[in-house]
Amino acid sequence: MTTFVIVGGGLAGAKAAETLRAENFDGEIVLFAEEPDRPYERPPLSKGYLLGKADRDSAFVHPADWYGEHDVDLRTGTAVTAIDPAAHTVTSAAGTQSYDKLLLAMGAAPRRIGIPGADLDGVLYLRRLGDSDRLREAFRGGARVVVLGAGWIGLETAAAAVLAGCHVTVVEPQPGALHAQLGPELGAVFGALHAAHGVEFRFGETATEFHGDAAGHVGSVLTSAGALLPAAAVVVGIGAVPSTALASAAGLEVDNGVVTDAALRTSAPDVFAAGDVANSYHPLLRRRVRVEHWANALNGGRAAARSMLGQEVEYNRVPYFYSDQYDLGMECSGLPEPGRYDRVTYRGDPSTLEFIAFWLSGGRLVAGMNVNVWDVTDDIQSLIRSGRELDTTRLTDPAIPLAEV
Ligand SMILES: Cc1cc2nc3c(=O)[nH]c(=O)nc-3n(C[C@H](O)[C@H](O)[C@H](O)COP(=O)(O)OP(=O)(O)OC[C@H]3O[C@@H](n4cnc5c(N)ncnc54)[C@H](O)[C@@H]3O)c2cc1C
Repeated sequence: MTTFVIVGGGLAGAKAAETLRAENFDGEIVLFAEEPDRPYERPPLSKGYLLGKADRDSAFVHPADWYGEHDVDLRTGTAVTAIDPAAHTVTSAAGTQSYDKLLLAMGAAPRRIGIPGADLDGVLYLRRLGDSDRLREAFRGGARVVVLGAGWIGLETAAAAVLAGCHVTVVEPQPGALHAQLGPELGAVFGALHAAHGVEFRFGETATEFHGDAAGHVGSVLTSAGALLPAAAVVVGIGAVPSTALASAAGLEVDNGVVTDAALRTSAPDVFAAGDVANSYHPLLRRRVRVEHWANALNGGRAAARSMLGQEVEYNRVPYFYSDQYDLGMECSGLPEPGRYDRVTYRGDPSTLEFIAFWLSGGRLVAGMNVNVWDVTDDIQSLIRSGRELDTTRLTDPAIPLAEV
């Protein structure tokens, strides 16, 4: 019997298994998942679940009995420890498993901080369900919370802490919030939103030491500017690192993720990669990108499954991301990284927090973000995909439907 093995029980791995069965693959599917839980989605961990508004069950990708019903051999609590591409095998504590095709979907892990006091209790990270439980507990009773990093995880966590009644300080080495993700213009919109909710920012600073109490619990954070910030809890949100150790050890090409072509094939025969761990050639952007977003895990997992089945696949989605903070909901299509655009323009007034922002390069749309405006993602993505030079007067005129710009 043909055996397809998936390493990584996150959204990408679960969607790949689902797609294999939906495409009538009748061979064996073995899904190795290091975590004790069956595959779940992470966005609620910094939003509804962290806020206590969504229950644990709502995060899971499939109901518990789905795996048995679809003959997917889900091995939770089982980490793959080695891959042998020549022998077509993977190894775990349970032994050796051979494969005909292999999908690497190991995702990413939080970047750890390596400063004195990093091991103190109360220095927390957010990636797994258990992490979210710990954060929720730490935010109880309006504690003083220091968040390291004004990226998506840092800001969503800051919002959750504020809503739980905490006093929150965010320490960020960049000059503004979401600087690397959105650039200074839109980063400032998010910075102002948080400041209006009482969040204190310390831009241009890093944490240099954590100080603890006699019981080994964090009590304060020393910053590079010499400020000593009281902290009953610290959330470290300084980015994620793709989980590439297995792939590197197996000799696969790795460069900020497992390198793949547009069909999500790695440098090793019969080995594919998708989700946060993959750095894939993107035909539309004409470069490799590693996208750490939910939609990429969802669609990349599906595309990898079809590629494993020998179907012709060109994974060419416009990157898409969403976030919720306080009453602000947004969706962002494209990658508005600093250096990749020369102009930002708006449909609507950003100060009203109901607008669409457009990042342009040479008059062509690089990215678009709708804030508290809905049902425009398809149109924004079509404009990005078109690569056309746009008339910005029409683009920014709310009277003209985006589909007619
Ligand atoms: C708190 C949080 C909030 C987020 N919010 C948003 C959001 O609002 N919008 C958005 O677009 N994106 C969001 N994201 C990003 C999104 O969740 C990720 O892009 C997505 O989880 C990636 O899925 P994945 O399957 O590639 O990897 P992961 O979700 O990382 O899953 C990989 C799994 O593989 C396991 N694994 C690793 N190595 C092995 C091994 N050797 N053997 C077996 N198993 C292994 C890991 O333990 C993990 O369970 C958020 C992420 C986090 C952490």
